[in-house]
Amino acid sequence: MSEAKLTSSTAAGQVESLLSVVDIKKHYQVKTGFMKPEANVKALDGVSFNLDKGKTLAVVGESGCGKSTLARVLTMIEQPTAGELRFDGQDVLGLGAEAAKVLRQKIQIIFQNPYGSLNPRKKVGTILEEPLVINTSLSKHARKQKALDMLAKVGLRPEHYDRYPHMFSGGQRQRIAIARGLMLDPQVVVADEPVSALDVSVQAQVLNLMMDLQQEMGLSYIFISHDLSVVEHIADEVMVMYLGKAVEYGSCEAIFNDPKHPYTQALLSSTPRLDPAHRREKIKLQGELPSPLNPPQGCAFHARCRYANERCAQQQPQLVNESGTQVACFAREEGRL
Ligand code: SF4
Repeated sequence: MSEAKLTSSTAAGQVESLLSVVDIKKHYQVKTGFMKPEANVKALDGVSFNLDKGKTLAVVGESGCGKSTLARVLTMIEQPTAGELRFDGQDVLGLGAEAAKVLRQKIQIIFQNPYGSLNPRKKVGTILEEPLVINTSLSKHARKQKALDMLAKVGLRPEHYDRYPHMFSGGQRQRIAIARGLMLDPQVVVADEPVSALDVSVQAQVLNLMMDLQQEMGLSYIFISHDLSVVEHIADEVMVMYLGKAVEYGSCEAIFNDPKHPYTQALLSSTPRLDPAHRREKIKLQGELPSPLNPPQGCAFHARCRYANERCAQQQPQLVNESGTQVACFAREEGRL
């Protein structure tokens, strides 16, 4: 894991990342059935990372690993159960309602499904201007100008301002969703599977647009995805999650060139690679992701892991630094892998 990398100065002269997340948790009480006791589901169970200005952290893992809960907590749609969230040096969770509202504008979200996330009854111009109506005192004219500028930035034309979402292709709709996410000039964008609903041929165009906008506007991204082949092109750092915890966290280069955790290795082995020199032995993952309602004891991955031993079934591995990457695996610690 990168040490806190340095973007903003604190009063003590120290510097810290734009976004710092420390041991964040989100637990839910869930009913398990009639007359049955409630269960405590640990959707997010102690995740930490730093994000610097202009950088992209990809969060990857199977559906149900806690990625989308993390997105909702980071964008303050949901309050975490415990942990610390600092934005530009400020403790986000300790803020009053007014200050939190202002700060919330700085961290915006783009959802996976451009079909469901845009109101079909509203014109594109209205959709784009809505965040400005709610959060700013800009005049009608200024709002329209900003919407037209943003349409141009995402590669759409002025005449699109008066059209409805159904008149656009999937890729164009995701451009509109991106434009709406940027209307309040955020510094951090949490993109929750932003291209997974799109045709493969369109995915690259939208990813390129996101990278261009990052350069132009100095954006930082939390890029949530189950698709490692997409992540490789856009991420600076990668965090691999399994059942609410990070199991590996490091630079994109290190994760792709030398994946250390058995789960990361299995995920990467099923990612298609064009270059034969970089093709990997296919590792078939046994079984499904366990239910968070009934998580296994010990390492949550042990029932699917080909390196598991007795200790793995009893104890939970913690993240340990290994050549600049953080890995939670006993087989690594014991030199068995
Ligand atoms: Fe596999 Fe054990 Fe490592 Fe978990 S701790 S990933 S079960 S070897």
